[in-house]
Amino acid sequence: MASIFTKIIQGEIPCYKIAEDERFFAFLDINPIAEGHVLVIPKSETDYIFDLEDDLLSGLTLFAKKIATAIDLSLGTIRTGIIVEGLEVPHAHMHLIPIYFEEQPFTLSRKIEVKQERMVELAKLISKAVKQ
Ligand code: 5GP
Repeated sequence: MASIFTKIIQGEIPCYKIAEDERFFAFLDINPIAEGHVLVIPKSETDYIFDLEDDLLSGLTLFAKKIATAIDLSLGTIRTGIIVEGLEVPHAHMHLIPIYFEEQPFTLSRKIEVKQERMVELAKLISKAVKQ
């Protein structure tokens, strides 16, 4: 059965899309731990990130760099951090977490509420800043 992320890529489930290319896709996490929390994923479905072929893993990292740069430029962060866990959704992904201040909680167990209109705005801001 297709993963929930594959359904998002295929447009069967809506998302706040940030960017995509032939191999990768980026969208806002629906349960963010900070405003502008993004997930980057390969379009092909593999559960464990360290099972990805070297070329796909390095490509995913470079794609994440491009999106993190856009997050930093558009949201005024001090930097963007990465969390890789993958215990909930069996489709390899990196969490890109905008960090706005040094003591900001940095754990997936602390979700924040972000209104739908703000999610739309965040997705627009970040996606506009992504270099093609
Ligand atoms: P992990 O597998 O690394 O523990 O976390 C999976 C992440 O996927 C969670 O942060 C969760 O909020 C996010 N997530 C799960 N289902 C959906 C969904 O349908 N849409 C979006 N945008 N994010 C999702």
